[in-house]
Amino acid sequence: MKIIAGNWKMYPQTLKEAKHILASLKKNTRSVKHAKIILCVPSLFLAPLITLKGTSRIMIGGQDAHAENEGAHTGETSPSALLSLGATHVILGHSERRAGGETDAIVAAKVQAAIKKKLSVILCVGEKKRDESGAYFGEVSNQLRDSLLGFPKTEAKRLVIAYEPIWAIGAKAVRAAEPTDFHEMSILIRRHLAEYFGKKIAFSIPILYGGSADERNAEAFLKDGGADGLLVGRASLDPEKFAAIIRIADRIR
Ligand code: PEP
Repeated sequence: MKIIAGNWKMYPQTLKEAKHILASLKKNTRSVKHAKIILCVPSLFLAPLITLKGTSRIMIGGQDAHAENEGAHTGETSPSALLSLGATHVILGHSERRAGGETDAIVAAKVQAAIKKKLSVILCVGEKKRDESGAYFGEVSNQLRDSLLGFPKTEAKRLVIAYEPIWAIGAKAVRAAEPTDFHEMSILIRRHLAEYFGKKIAFSIPILYGGSADERNAEAFLKDGGADGLLVGRASLDPEKFAAIIRIADRIR
């Protein structure tokens, strides 16, 4: 089963628009039977959108959560609060947060806190740029190892990895990666997961591609690239495009 996760980032500007996007997505994905749909929305919109999603197969997640469940942390969101609203997932270690100073050690602490609360974690890793010497393989390996430090093997079923090369993310992206770029990196990631958790568990952890994924390149990443799913930014805010990606994933399985 393929996983299609949306990252709405700090969009849209109003709850009214957010509800409109979700309502339209619900309508456009009624026939979907196999794909797992996760929508990671701004925290202020979580509660109303979880109510609106109703019994549809769409799951709602957060885009970050603190490493502690309560405390003097102005403006932060705790894993407990996410869970209490009915969120099932949380994105952690997104490059836009890492760019704001989030280190691998902070990400690792957040991952552990979220897992302890039984949230599923979508852990993002990815290199800043690609270089001829292949140093980016080391960059991603280090990020993965350090962000997963102390991760309990018994909770591996709650882990999803999103490989998101930074140069391919967002409106300033150079271009989307190629399915082969994803494929070679996913082999490396899987090899590391096998070192940490053993081969069997490593093969059960989904590895998603993220970075300018859309309805035109989704099939190539899912089929040729062998991605277990996609983490979609911009295109997830357009319910028709996002539904088209989900239907492709549903067909491929
Ligand atoms: C993201 O924000 O995780 C992302 C992949 O964005 P986009 O699809 O817009 O490149």
